[in-house]
Amino acid sequence: MELQPSKILVVDDFKHNRIALTKVLQPLENIELVEASSGSEALAKLINNEYALILLDVNMPNMDGYEVAELISSTQAHKHTPIVMLTAHDSSPKDIKRAYEVGAIDYLTKPIESTILLNKVKQFVKISQLQAKTNYLRSEREVILEAAGQGVIKFNSEGKVQFINSKACQLLHSDNDSLLGSQFNLWFKTAETEPCHDDLFLFLRTQANEQGIFQQRVTLFIEDNKTYLVELTCTSAKKQLDASMIVLFQDISDRLEMENRLIHLANYDTLTQLCNRGSFHEQLLRALNRAKRVKSTVALLFLDLDRFKQINDTLGHDIGDELLKGVAQRLKLVLRESDIAGRLGGDEFAILLEDCHSSADAELVAKKLISSIAQPFLLQHKEILIETSIGISCTVNGEHNISTLLKWADIALYAAKSAGRNCHQLFIPAMSAKAQKHALIQSKLHKIIDADLLDVHYQGQYSLSEKRFVGFEALVRWPRVGFGKTPISPALFIPIAEQTHLIHKLGEQTLTQACRLLQSWQGSTETRHLSIAVNLSAKQINSQDFLATLESVISKFRFPKGQLTFELTETAFLENTETVVRTMHCIKDMGFLLALDDFGTGYSSLSYLQKLPLDILKIDQCFVQRLGQCNKTSALVKAIITIAQAHDMNVVAEGVETKLQLDCIEQLGCSKIQGYYFSKPIPPDLINALLNPQVIPINNKPKLPLPQSVVK
Ligand code: C2E
Ligand code: MG
Ligand code: MG
Repeated sequence: MELQPSKILVVDDFKHNRIALTKVLQPLENIELVEASSGSEALAKLINNEYALILLDVNMPNMDGYEVAELISSTQAHKHTPIVMLTAHDSSPKDIKRAYEVGAIDYLTKPIESTILLNKVKQFVKISQLQAKTNYLRSEREVILEAAGQGVIKFNSEGKVQFINSKACQLLHSDNDSLLGSQFNLWFKTAETEPCHDDLFLFLRTQANEQGIFQQRVTLFIEDNKTYLVELTCTSAKKQLDASMIVLFQDISDRLEMENRLIHLANYDTLTQLCNRGSFHEQLLRALNRAKRVKSTVALLFLDLDRFKQINDTLGHDIGDELLKGVAQRLKLVLRESDIAGRLGGDEFAILLEDCHSSADAELVAKKLISSIAQPFLLQHKEILIETSIGISCTVNGEHNISTLLKWADIALYAAKSAGRNCHQLFIPAMSAKAQKHALIQSKLHKIIDADLLDVHYQGQYSLSEKRFVGFEALVRWPRVGFGKTPISPALFIPIAEQTHLIHKLGEQTLTQACRLLQSWQGSTETRHLSIAVNLSAKQINSQDFLATLESVISKFRFPKGQLTFELTETAFLENTETVVRTMHCIKDMGFLLALDDFGTGYSSLSYLQKLPLDILKIDQCFVQRLGQCNKTSALVKAIITIAQAHDMNVVAEGVETKLQLDCIEQLGCSKIQGYYFSKPIPPDLINALLNPQVIPINNKPKLPLPQSVVK
């Protein structure tokens, strides 16, 4: 703070007196002397000016010093300005008394002793400068307090308001005068979320004393019993030794709302308003810890919508989103308040049930959920049906940790899906062993495919009318070396490949090997007529990239397109039927043939036979192997053959193992045979031996049942 010069007003009608006084005061630093030759001039010079001191002569014409002093003291602006009266040498005690009465604080008798005058004035200037400094600091503090934007209240040791800034008055909906002296506990009460205290003021002051600064959310009561939450920052005024407390506070409604919004965003899924993955895991962890303490059962349900992707792809993401919201609502309808539902991502939901009596309770909830979700959804004027698979894992007394419970629920969900979907499965330990085996196969398969080490074997298809092999089915095989002693059956590893993207690479590599073989056959009259059938998984034909992959593989080889057949099973048409039919037409347009594999085992709606551009129908081996034992089977196979012929399709009988089966199937009108009776699947280097058994040196003959008809 920079000190302004202190002004001293010298009032005397004699000029030489004023000059003399000025001379005496010359040594004082930082003062400004102002002269007035009369009372009226002195009063004029007081307007809009502050003085550290007024030296006022008593004897002046018109208006004497007493009158001037009386007028000055009666003004609001100058009532505290010190006045020193300069009295005549013969002044009586009465005069001096009068001087005090009219407002003087001291007097000096003429002739004035210069040292006394100088020191007196020095003291008054000092006092005035201190006063100015104090005023400055006070006004500065007030400016800061007002500008703080927060309510500031100083409470005395009894909890009564001693000082309050205007922001605090505004927040308390009252004014300074009514608030001064009012009690802390009248305005502020413990918030509902905080532990209760008999005397909140005492509690906060103790905390502030101990910790220096203490913050607490409290409820503020204003007029008409209205309340809102405020945050108090309490500081004990230790330096003042009077046990008072300074409280800063502000309305935190907006901040709370923002905080709540952020908490909500961090913990809830924005689409469904269910818990998100993170907060669901937290809840699960909390539930398991609680179950340990209170010895209860916790159940975890994993829910996956069957064929949700199809709805999303065909009807659009808007309907997909609406459906997810609808499912979330159904979950809430079925569940109790205390159950927790979360969306873990995509179409995966999870439910946490605490205090189950047994796993049967969880199964009951699962059943209710499945039947509730199975009810049609009406979205954008469309009726949509969706089904659910649920996997359940349970733990008693929190014995298992969160990751085990999650893994089990996942395994159980997978089991539910494998069991035909729209059902629930409770985790049992046997599932875990199976899951581990699957995981191992999956990781090995990954390595095999990455290194392009898959083998392909070929099983001959024999034409009874032509009396020769007319084609082969390409069947993928686990490599003989490097990946375990016993090779794994494709019946096991193909479904595992189908659960991941591995099936696409697997399909591409098998097709490439088959095409290479087909191309190699074109150079010889013995093999030029042979065709190859390649199996296509439902996943492959449903994939958008399939046709591009096919074109890119085919472009590398040369052979007549009609010699390559693709085998599909009925599962390929379950999803996206129209898209699959379109892809099938594209395959046909490219010149390839299509076969329906394992006919009779699937969902067998004969109506789709008309819709599909099929060339070949393969009767499943389960029928073939019952031939000769059961008349009904013969009738059924006859019907299949008749239907195929009616649709201009060739028929291949799969799994012919015995002469009896062969005779039966031939009698029923099927002339193309695939089965161990003629050939097991063999590696490509044994194909020549199969085609020409007589040219093979005796010790080089393949170790496989040679075609009986050829051997005959
Ligand atoms: P699939 O396409 O129906 O193939 C016929 C299966 O029956 C083959 O089993 C074959 O070895 C077996 N089989 C053939 N003749 C007989 C017989 O006389 N008796 C008996 N008991 N079985 C016979 P494999 O090779 O184990 O293949 C099983 C399934 O794996 C195949 O059934 C096919 O669905 C799938 N698969 C095989 N290779 C591939 C492939 O490259 N891609 C795809 N997507 N699936 C494949
Ligand atoms: Mg097949
Ligand atoms: Mg088959």
